[in-house]
Amino acid sequence: MTKSNVESFDLDHRLVKAPYVRVAGRKELGGGVEIIKYDLRFCQPNKAHLEMATVHSIEHMMANFMRDYTDKLIGFAPMGCQTGFYAITNNMEQDELLSALESALNDILNATEVPAANERQCGWGANHDLAGAQAAVRNYLAHKDEWLEVMA
Ligand SMILES: [Zn+2]
Repeated sequence: MTKSNVESFDLDHRLVKAPYVRVAGRKELGGGVEIIKYDLRFCQPNKAHLEMATVHSIEHMMANFMRDYTDKLIGFAPMGCQTGFYAITNNMEQDELLSALESALNDILNATEVPAANERQCGWGANHDLAGAQAAVRNYLAHKDEWLEVMA
């Protein structure tokens, strides 16, 4: 197969074993800036997925909570296939990412509300599921020892 413009299109999703944490790309921008993008896969591709309200609440909480542990997070974005998320970082190496990720995930387990889940701060403020997000995060954290085993 010829290489595509999109890194994840070149990943054979049949061969991975979720949940996992994978470096999905690196881009040197010069001036000491290197963008490192992580694929945080919660669900086995084409076998399982998260409900959209769950995805949305995890997105809000991770975008907020992860920044309590690092100033290197540029963006935290859901995958359209609803099986995971992308963390886009400025030069955040894996150990640092894993530490901030785990801390923020634990904050989700302790959260009593989803931040910015309202019409002023969000494009669909009613579309949230804190309990669903916590269940998905609990499962992801339970497999922490396997996060770095990406391929089946
Ligand atoms: Zn939102």
